[in-house]
Amino acid sequence: MIFMTATAATPARGPHFAGPGAWFRGNLHCHTTESDGNVSPSDAAAGFANLGYDFLAITDHDRITDPATVDAHGLCLIPSVELTASAGLLGTEFHILGIGIDPSTVLPPRTSPGRVSSAWLRNQGAAVFAAHPHWSGLTVDDLMGLTIDGIEACNGGTTLDSLKGEAFTHWDEGLLRGASWTGLGTDDTHWHTLDRGTAWVMVRATERTPGALVSAIKAGNFYGTTGPAINDVHLEFVDDGRVLKVHVHTSPVAAMYLSGPGARSRHTFHETASAITSVTEVDPARMSITSHTFEVDLTVSGPARYAGRGTGQRHIRVSCMDWNRGRAWSNPLFF
Ligand SMILES: [Zn+2]
Ligand SMILES: [Zn+2]
Repeated sequence: MIFMTATAATPARGPHFAGPGAWFRGNLHCHTTESDGNVSPSDAAAGFANLGYDFLAITDHDRITDPATVDAHGLCLIPSVELTASAGLLGTEFHILGIGIDPSTVLPPRTSPGRVSSAWLRNQGAAVFAAHPHWSGLTVDDLMGLTIDGIEACNGGTTLDSLKGEAFTHWDEGLLRGASWTGLGTDDTHWHTLDRGTAWVMVRATERTPGALVSAIKAGNFYGTTGPAINDVHLEFVDDGRVLKVHVHTSPVAAMYLSGPGARSRHTFHETASAITSVTEVDPARMSITSHTFEVDLTVSGPARYAGRGTGQRHIRVSCMDWNRGRAWSNPLFF
């Protein structure tokens, strides 16, 4: 058995929480009257400006709504699109987000195979994500055939529509099969229901420009959330590489999770919260936690136990949940 001997302050690959720049809050999935949304592009920007967001990607169906034609209401608007593609293994058409694309670009037809459209978006320089995989009826095999940076782990709009907005299962299976996907939180706002401010991303970028934000998103320097903040996650190898320490810092939360393959996951609560027997005993002011260090003894489980069979790609994810059931999840940290 081979153990790493190097001590690393950052993962071999994965999100950098302490990189230069600042955190910016944004929604990367939104529709307007340019497709099937209920409000104009300028009113959509106003809606997210009112929520305190820093940036917005308007992703109308099969058309790029040019930010130059929109009153941004102070937001940074990233020219983007949601392409329709055909067809999943189970026969459904599905949707692919392209974040950061020249508004004058001529788009491929809606009948294009997803593997063609996703590769095409990548060639245009966009960050590429499979939208709402569960809602679309996509299999992980479908996703593995696409050229994508990641998937929507949580899509608030389809959660409200059908309770099919989550794809954490798809995500974790893909990671175990060797994909290195990141996981978005988005609204998929159509302005039909209360489909805004439900899930979003916090991006660590050097500046609030489309170029810097898209670069950071492609690099995985963001996390998804429906409420809490993940302020820092970093890895440290100690004891000559035999022990992996995962240092996590969040806003006040009820629980933190280290997600590894299968049963190799951990959780932690405040010491008093672990003994709760009734909801009436919950006292968030006293029972919240903001930091924890998970220790993984690699001599017990073995580093390979953190990889899928045959991939050699070891990873963990970090998540947390607040007392309102709001959740935040990091992108995978590979080690
Ligand atoms: Zn869609
Ligand atoms: Zn959509």
